Amino acid sequence: MASIATSLTRIRSTLPRGVELVAVSKFHPTEALLEAYEAGQRAFGESRIQELLAKIPMLPDDIRWHFIGHLQTNKVRALVATRRIALIESVDSERLLELIDKESDRADVTSRVLMQVHVAQEETKFGFLPEELLEYFKARRFENLRATHICGIMGMASNTDDTARISADFEAIADIKRQIEALCPDLRGFDILSMGMSDDYPLAIAAGSNLVRVGTAIFGARQY
Ligand SMILES: *Cc1c(COP(=O)(O)O)cnc(C)c1O
Repeated sequence: MASIATSLTRIRSTLPRGVELVAVSKFHPTEALLEAYEAGQRAFGESRIQELLAKIPMLPDDIRWHFIGHLQTNKVRALVATRRIALIESVDSERLLELIDKESDRADVTSRVLMQVHVAQEETKFGFLPEELLEYFKARRFENLRATHICGIMGMASNTDDTARISADFEAIADIKRQIEALCPDLRGFDILSMGMSDDYPLAIAAGSNLVRVGTAIFGARQY
């Protein structure tokens, strides 16, 4: 298998300017993250709170941590209290968003978040349904947030080999972002379209993604 540094260089060389790479390091040991860090990587994505809380103090302070997993409401306070989260990418309900806002306000931090939208065929994936998300923006409920900034949306394509299906899912997610912008033309800093993983990030970029979350193609297979 190629080294982490080699894989990073290869992937970066394929990314157009303006597309950010988040190295998804869940289930990988801190040594692997350090290797990526030494190869210049600064944005890392984790999906489990305990693992993230353990890794943060062991790694350099200029890492930008992205939380990308399903966030349980009873873990929000601990996540916000780290004061180290650059972006919570996986806000999948209004209840969760309100709690992040409440805890951020209380901790005197501003949390940056993405709304996760569910378009994939699987029932198991988390996220707002497109119509729920549009309704949220149409009703301008984001105006009630005190300590949270919604920076864009995140989504995943169906888990399939059918590239036409995957591209259609990415186009649908990109279209939801455009519809939100049309509903709320005054939204500021709503710029991030996070989509694409190891197997499908080129298709995601073709559909307009500007943030890709790549794990396996950098670190190899995860040991669960
Ligand atoms: C694990 C994970 C990824 C990375 O998946 P790979 O196939 O290893 O690149 C990206 N996004 C989310 C939300 C994930 O949970």
